Amino acid sequence: MSIGCISFDINVGIMERIFLQRQSQANNKALEDFPGLNTNPDAIRWKHDRDGEFSVGRMYKRDLATQPGEIAGPWKQIWKSNTPTKIKCFTWLVCRRACLTQERLKKRGFQIVSRCFFCHEKEETNNHLFLHCRVTAQIWYLFQSIIQDPWVVPEHTADLLNCWMRRGGSKTQKKWWNLVPSCIWWSIWKERNNRCFKNITNPMQKVKENCINTLYFWCKEEGIDDVNQLVDFLGYL
Ligand SMILES: [Zn+2]
Repeated sequence: MSIGCISFDINVGIMERIFLQRQSQANNKALEDFPGLNTNPDAIRWKHDRDGEFSVGRMYKRDLATQPGEIAGPWKQIWKSNTPTKIKCFTWLVCRRACLTQERLKKRGFQIVSRCFFCHEKEETNNHLFLHCRVTAQIWYLFQSIIQDPWVVPEHTADLLNCWMRRGGSKTQKKWWNLVPSCIWWSIWKERNNRCFKNITNPMQKVKENCINTLYFWCKEEGIDDVNQLVDFLGYL
């Protein structure tokens, strides 16, 4: 064998023997370290808990714990909220980033050029559409302007439910305040689908109005009073 002006005289047979010898030594070492066979019969064990017992509840908990921002899981805010059942399911999808946004379609193998239907600047991802888009963010700020608390938009939708709380205010105010995230997401999603599938684009002022009206009807449906003033106030903004 020669490389440039240097030549090597290598005996391939010797190299092969050395290699096999090393491999054999490694195998012997592995066999020496082997702790021995267990005489117990084979069994299926859930490896994430000491007792090895499996349950769907444990799997669900573990699944939630491995999602970013969902260590405690926002499931209580979702399933115990005063929203219609289909909205609970929808909110759960948004928090799990399982809504059929273009991000999700790409993960499923669809070849598409992803663009947000609102700003037309960024890719349509779950977090962008429902939280960070500069257009849809207007609705978040509309509601935040009511309490005027300093607020940082979280990275993930699941984090939003964990940090969406109202300090002070009456019990009723807290009740409708907890409905706001689902209401905003639902309004954004409906408008997004209008733009995507029906080629209908409503101005953002109209989307805001739809959101406020939806919140009003949910509150009335659940017997939450004191919402008239809020709707009047938001209508003026
Ligand atoms: Zn956008």
